[in-house]
Amino acid sequence: MDFNQLGLAAPLLRAVAEAGYSEPTPIQSAAIGPALAGRDIVGCAQTGTGKTAAFALPLLQRVDATAGDDPRIRALVLSPTRELAAQIGQSFATYGRHLELWHTVIFGGVAEAAQIRELGRGIDILVATPGRLLDLWQRKHLSLAAVEIFVLDEADHMLDMGFLPDVKRIIAALPAKRQNLLFSATMPPEIRALADGLLHDPVSVAVAPPATTADNIEQRLYFVAKADKPKLLIEMLRSAALARTLVFSRTKHGANRVVQSLDRAGVPAAAIHGNKSQSARTRALAAFKGGTLRVLVATDLAARGIDVDGVTHVINYDLPNVAETYVHRIGRTARAGAAGVAWSMCDAEEQAYLVDIERMLGRHLERVEDHAYAAAAPAPTDLHGRSRPPAPPSGRSGQRGGGPGRGPGRPGGHRRSGGRRR
Ligand code: AMP
Repeated sequence: MDFNQLGLAAPLLRAVAEAGYSEPTPIQSAAIGPALAGRDIVGCAQTGTGKTAAFALPLLQRVDATAGDDPRIRALVLSPTRELAAQIGQSFATYGRHLELWHTVIFGGVAEAAQIRELGRGIDILVATPGRLLDLWQRKHLSLAAVEIFVLDEADHMLDMGFLPDVKRIIAALPAKRQNLLFSATMPPEIRALADGLLHDPVSVAVAPPATTADNIEQRLYFVAKADKPKLLIEMLRSAALARTLVFSRTKHGANRVVQSLDRAGVPAAAIHGNKSQSARTRALAAFKGGTLRVLVATDLAARGIDVDGVTHVINYDLPNVAETYVHRIGRTARAGAAGVAWSMCDAEEQAYLVDIERMLGRHLERVEDHAYAAAAPAPTDLHGRSRPPAPPSGRSGQRGGGPGRGPGRPGGHRRSGGRRR
């Protein structure tokens, strides 16, 4: 499939070409046509599949078709996290650069005055997190009366983060006649019910389930004693091949401790998690994206929706206690079909998590046995955790193309997606 076959207008095709995309990803091929035709969409896809462009391109085209001189919020995109909201805003800037539309991003945790000012100047497309949106709407700083297109991104994370009541209140405030696009990596019953109520005769698009999206990622497992993890991490980071490495920790304290031990070893790193201020998170992310910071240590919640190109390595310093999280984490490398590397440490207390992860993947991770801090590997088990003879290594190796990262986003700013005079 070619971008030219999707029905996109010339300014969007130009922007896509300038972004360096040669062909649409599967979700883009499946969703763009129906979305351009005004259909509702339910998309089962996680970050890394190209889902943002799958909704942003048709949205821009449809909003542009009815643009007047007096911008009103005609498209609303809801995102569960500030980071994802900022990235979606960045995508609108990228894809909409040859259109004359205005967009802005609003989220909590930062001063609202600038956001209110931007809203007052008039915008076509609003990207928002639910809490701040409701707050500003209730105080009449914005109107939702002209919304024609509504996008609910990462609906399952909205549920996890307790935002569903807010989301429902926002939906209730929208005009009845509108196009709805809902994206979610998983479809728990609550989201299925929400989708049933929200969407009218939707086109269903699904891309490879999480367990198979990891095929182009070299995955390896290191058994190690808990106390040796800092040393193993430092050892791993000695290689210059780890040019942009995302390290995952299960807890915020754990993330801070990892940064401290790296600091003592002279390896610059920063942590992002919920206890860090928004400005510290934005700074760390910008340095990581810009290439001045090689190592970013993140908790799962903070990492949600973070989209950084060219992540060469994901290191699971701790194994996640939910198997699906493993797939979300390693999906941070190998974006949009490129190859990536994911290494996981496993200590004695984490072996039950490993059993869950391997059962979900349907195969064993390749064991690295000859590393400097190797701990005795547990007796080999089958995919249900039952003992059995060792499995052959099954990891695949891949070369990671480390392109330059994008510049830091400017969340909250009022961005003109194109050149209309105002
Ligand atoms: P998303 O799933 O929307 O978070 O996108 C993941 C990454 O894929 C982003 O860095 C996009 O810039 C990139 N991307 C999206 N569509 C394409 C495409 N058709 N070709 C190459 N890269 C893409």
